[in-house]
Amino acid sequence: MSETTETTYKPTSPNSKLDFASVWEYDPAPESTANVKVKERYELFIDGKFVKPSKGRYFPSTNPATKEVITEFAEATQNDIDQAVKAARKAFKNEWSSLSGKTRGKYLYRIARMLQERAREFAILESMDGGKPIRESRDVDIPLVAAHFFYYAGWADKLEYAFPGKTPEPIGVCGQIIPWNFPLLMLAWKIAPALACGNTVVLKPAETTSLTALKFAELVQDAGLPSGVVNIVTGAGQTGAEIVNHKDIDKIAFTGSTGVGKLIQKSIAGTGKKFTLELGGKGAMIIFEDAPVDQAVEGIINAIFFNQGHVCCAGSRLLVQEGIVDQVIRKLQDRMEMLIVGDPLDKNTDVGAINSEAQFETVNKYLQIGLDEGADVYQSKCEIPENGYFIRPTLLTNVAQSNRVVQEEIFGPVLTVQTFRTADEAITKANNTQYGLAGGVWTDKGSKIFKVGAGLRSGVVWANTYNKFDPTSPFGGYKESGVGREGGLHGLAAYVNLR
Ligand code: NAP
Ligand code: MG
Repeated sequence: MSETTETTYKPTSPNSKLDFASVWEYDPAPESTANVKVKERYELFIDGKFVKPSKGRYFPSTNPATKEVITEFAEATQNDIDQAVKAARKAFKNEWSSLSGKTRGKYLYRIARMLQERAREFAILESMDGGKPIRESRDVDIPLVAAHFFYYAGWADKLEYAFPGKTPEPIGVCGQIIPWNFPLLMLAWKIAPALACGNTVVLKPAETTSLTALKFAELVQDAGLPSGVVNIVTGAGQTGAEIVNHKDIDKIAFTGSTGVGKLIQKSIAGTGKKFTLELGGKGAMIIFEDAPVDQAVEGIINAIFFNQGHVCCAGSRLLVQEGIVDQVIRKLQDRMEMLIVGDPLDKNTDVGAINSEAQFETVNKYLQIGLDEGADVYQSKCEIPENGYFIRPTLLTNVAQSNRVVQEEIFGPVLTVQTFRTADEAITKANNTQYGLAGGVWTDKGSKIFKVGAGLRSGVVWANTYNKFDPTSPFGGYKESGVGREGGLHGLAAYVNLR
């Protein structure tokens, strides 16, 4: 919006439609990519060096907003994983586990500062490779990445205070496998606590978003981290499975879908490997009649539409108390019409590109399932680019608790809306899925916050806000949303053996 334009937002009556396109006009404000260098090809990062994959195979990585190939990554196979695990074992035994906590902390602080120095470059690459709006990668992802390294750097020389009366020891070599929705942030959640505790790692990023992990490998080299402490191996699901099944790995840390999480749990059963699993979610947001509705609507928009709904803890189910449902839906629709969907590198963009063709198809499949199940579909009417993978923010109303769109994780900008009369009914509906990762409640009454907070079987419950993260607070799931916690002291505990 130009600064001279004066607009007063007038709530629309249920039947009127404001022409938001003409009220809110923005000129394009693309972030320049001029100084960001992407190599034509990235090798595997093993033992402190970039090495060719033993089978010589590479796979392309595309920009989902344009479908252009931006680079290619090496495919790591069994032999490469073996080399990476050997390097990690050697670094663990000979150096990293016996360094003082203070020295490990110094390395982590250095990495954190270098991430801050290169924040702009990382943010641009994250948006190019994964499709998330630059505003998100610049203001949320990368600052949180640095914050996690700072936070765990601070613990490295204080482990005995973290676990009073116990002697914390590192676990050994950790295999870490991460998804595509927060590529560098998931890497930080995994690598920072592992290194702080004296472990070494072999990490596999998701095949559609490996770019920032390899840029991180370059940063690790520049930081002078001892060789073999961090190894980054790229590839698809099979590469992940090779890590899971490698005999000399002591712990598996996985973030991804519940389906793959179950496979991993089966594969490592009886091997003595430790594990943490951070899996899917189907977060419910509960809005009571006494809630500040405008604030709630803003929170809902943030919870499901920013970052294209590619958030494991996304608030993808809305439960509204009956008396205000018409008002909430109308305000939501009005706000949805203002969202700008398009170029992830444009600073005005609210909703970027769906991460990959496969995910684009999955979300569209669920929209069809919703229609078949009898849902009413409302999509914002904004223009979307013709070329890339874009989906308009979508509301599904007239849905039942048993519908697949209410039960299953869609992982796209799609929100289902249901109603409730009492707090108990809201809690029952919110808990009625296989997942239990996150939830939210909007109300004026502290008593309702405590009642709902205590009633939800979910790892996180936000009150009058949503999707707020901090390295000091633990995160993780109930039920099929996972095992173990990441973040905070709990996240540290997952990387030590206590004697
Ligand atoms: P995914 O398909 O389970 O993949 C996650 C990672 O596992 C990727 O690196 C993937 O490689 C790899 N992988 C695939 N098959 C494997 C196998 N058989 N053995 C070992 N590794 C394997 O999940 P996604 O679709 O990338 O990510 C979205 C999911 O992650 C959602 O369900 C979301 O809720 C969840 N998530 C959870 C959290 C949390 O903290 N709870 C945070 C973020 C995301 P490829 O890339 O090649 O497929
Ligand atoms: Mg990509």
